Amino acid sequence: MATIISGRDLSETIRGEIAEDAAALEKETGAKPGLATVLVGDDPASHQYVRMKHKAAEAAGFYSKNITLEADTPEAELLGVVEGLNADPEVHGILVQLPLPDHIDEGKVIRAIDPAKDVDGFHPVNVGLLAAGDEDVLAPCTPAGIVEMLLRSGNDPEGKHVVIIGRSNIVGRPLALLLLRKAEGGNATVTVAHSRTQDLPAMAREADILVAAIGRPEMVTREYVKPGAVVVDVGSNRVDDPDSEKGYRWTGDVAFDEVAEVASAITPSPGGVGPMTITMLMKNTLEAARRIHEASATAGS
Ligand code: NAP
Repeated sequence: MATIISGRDLSETIRGEIAEDAAALEKETGAKPGLATVLVGDDPASHQYVRMKHKAAEAAGFYSKNITLEADTPEAELLGVVEGLNADPEVHGILVQLPLPDHIDEGKVIRAIDPAKDVDGFHPVNVGLLAAGDEDVLAPCTPAGIVEMLLRSGNDPEGKHVVIIGRSNIVGRPLALLLLRKAEGGNATVTVAHSRTQDLPAMAREADILVAAIGRPEMVTREYVKPGAVVVDVGSNRVDDPDSEKGYRWTGDVAFDEVAEVASAITPSPGGVGPMTITMLMKNTLEAARRIHEASATAGS
């Protein structure tokens, strides 16, 4: 049976380290890391995600604030809110919760965020730095969390063949770029597969490390996995389950029970990549705070 790589347990450890580092930064410099979220509309899942992010920020000793706007808020008003946060010295990380309502141009809002405060790593400046292999870029949280999980579980991707199923801008594509960097957590050989890939199970079986970021419940079965491979399940899918109290349950993109019989290590879903994503948001916010403080100290000296 595979070893289970628990994102919950790893997150607890890393969030403890972040809290210590944040306290040390504040003691040394007076700067308390600050995270601001902006939520537009009343989507219950988005509200839940934002609540979890603030809980984590508060537990780490950060300053945190949430701005909630009505679903029909004009784009110009949202851009004004972002500008205000860019100028707010107490805020080092800005996260605009996606998706935004249809009348708002998401790209325009992301481009309005100061790249130094872009803790989601979605601003084109940061996307470009990541594509260029920059070691210090604020990287998108889900892929960064996957790399951290691999490193901390003793599955360094260096020299390994990683097959990623999924090429989205938030998971598959940036993960490929992180794994290609000449840096810790990088130096892998990377294949990115997607819906047009031919004979996907055979391609997946080439992987030493297989990452499923597809959005299709339990699609990755035993036949996709080379014996002894490490399997990372990014999927988070709500499926009907008449046997459960709520009538539904959450599951990943990997058929966990059968894949755990052939893999050497596997991340569960829930309890795997999800908590690590929020943990990396805290890490990015702390890093942004440190850099913004250093830049202002240098400018003032
Ligand atoms: P997405 O934007 O829908 O991208 C899905 C990718 O999977 C696409 O590249 C698509 O190929 C590929 N794909 C779809 N069906 C396929 C098939 N039958 N065979 C091969 N490839 C297929 O999804 P996403 O935003 O990357 O999210 C993926 C999953 O991760 C979802 O379950 C999501 O909820 C979860 N997620 C979790 C976290 C977390 O923090 N835990 C964060 C983000 C996402 P094409 O490009 O060809 O269409």
